[in-house]
Amino acid sequence: MDPWLTQEQRDLYETITRFAHRELNDDLQSRDEQGAFSWHGWKKCAELGLPGLAVPAEYGGAGADAVTTMAALEALGYGCRDNGLIFSLNAHLWAGAMPIVKFGTERLKRRYLPGLCDGSLIASHALSEPEAGSDALALTARATLTADGGYELTGTKTFVTNAPVADVFIVFASTDPARRFAGVSAYVVDRDTPGLSVGKQVGKLGLRTSPMSEIHMEHCRVPASQLLGPPGAGLAVFNAAMRLERAFILAAGVGALRRDLERCVEHARLRRQYGRPIGDFQAVAHRIVGMRLRLETSRLLLYHVGRLLDAGHDAALEITLAKLHISETLVTSALDAVQVHGGAGYLTGDAERGLRDAVGSRIYSGTSEVQQNIAARLLGLGLPERQDRKDVIA
Ligand SMILES: Cc1cc2nc3c(=O)[nH]c(=O)nc-3n(C[C@H](O)[C@H](O)[C@H](O)COP(=O)(O)OP(=O)(O)OC[C@H]3O[C@@H](n4cnc5c(N)ncnc54)[C@H](O)[C@@H]3O)c2cc1C
Repeated sequence: MDPWLTQEQRDLYETITRFAHRELNDDLQSRDEQGAFSWHGWKKCAELGLPGLAVPAEYGGAGADAVTTMAALEALGYGCRDNGLIFSLNAHLWAGAMPIVKFGTERLKRRYLPGLCDGSLIASHALSEPEAGSDALALTARATLTADGGYELTGTKTFVTNAPVADVFIVFASTDPARRFAGVSAYVVDRDTPGLSVGKQVGKLGLRTSPMSEIHMEHCRVPASQLLGPPGAGLAVFNAAMRLERAFILAAGVGALRRDLERCVEHARLRRQYGRPIGDFQAVAHRIVGMRLRLETSRLLLYHVGRLLDAGHDAALEITLAKLHISETLVTSALDAVQVHGGAGYLTGDAERGLRDAVGSRIYSGTSEVQQNIAARLLGLGLPERQDRKDVIA
């Protein structure tokens, strides 16, 4: 564990690790096969205050600082093998609750945040569209001003994490495509709003216990009071949500790296071939050393970001580099874990599921290529393209 964590943060780490071992791993194999969200796990996480970790205490959250939040999430990732549940929790917190914290009116905060923190409400972030992925603000969802001063939303959103179980959606739509970014606004939309429908849960490679679907909006009317920030603040809302999500979403991944490493060390000690533990073979041992090295670099980058954020820095470049490095590490080390376990690692189980779960990290919250574009721009390189610009304005 990071020696610079305070005693309180270490105690929290131990508490959450024990909690996760005890409460969150049951039936994982069958839930993964069925793509079933763990309501039990969600409720247990909520009892511990995890859905509102970073939300200010006055709205029902834990009000944790960045490093404490990272320690809590790392512990969760270490103790909980249900990476999908943790992904849902992260999407809810960073892209659902925090935009309301940062941009919501007092009325919106009072209305939604207590429920989002105690877990009675689940949030989703609906930005991506069939033709707007990395170039997310090329969106075509429309918001038309109505006579009563509200908005009517029309369009389809794809890849909406948590949608099948969500109560509230942060939806991005444009009132005026001609104004490009300036025309995009973000709206808080309740699930039961007439005109909003949630599509069938989609299947995916990994993170299967985190449900995902499309949402469709047809004459979906929302009052102006559901706007996040002033009209046209969609880009700022998106940037703020992505900045937080990229900084924190892979803290649990660092915990998963530790978990996988320990499992590989144990396996390499116990599994014998040619009359000796396979860990005696340099090829195996060196692979595991590589895993340890990448765990260290990932953890250093993660907490470096945490300390910068707690000290009030923007940390734009560090956040991007950490997201890029940890996600690439997750995939590399998950492949190594399969290799160390040989045929057993290829069978349905922890190593196999870990690899499938890891791959998404190179895509969600901006692909690895997009992270590199952002980093290049922050270094004064790369094209000042529209799709790059949107990712660095915050
Ligand atoms: C597990 C998961 C959860 C998600 N959850 C949500 C969610 O809750 N809400 C939501 O709105 N979206 C969500 N997404 C969508 C996600 O944000 C997009 O998948 C992602 O931004 C990439 O967009 P795309 O899939 O359309 O790929 P594309 O943009 O079509 O990219 C395809 C390939 O081209 C590359 N590429 C594209 N543009 C460039 C460029 N300028 N330079 C270099 N390479 C480029 C990409 O890196 C990628 O390799 C989720 C995705 C996943 C996998």
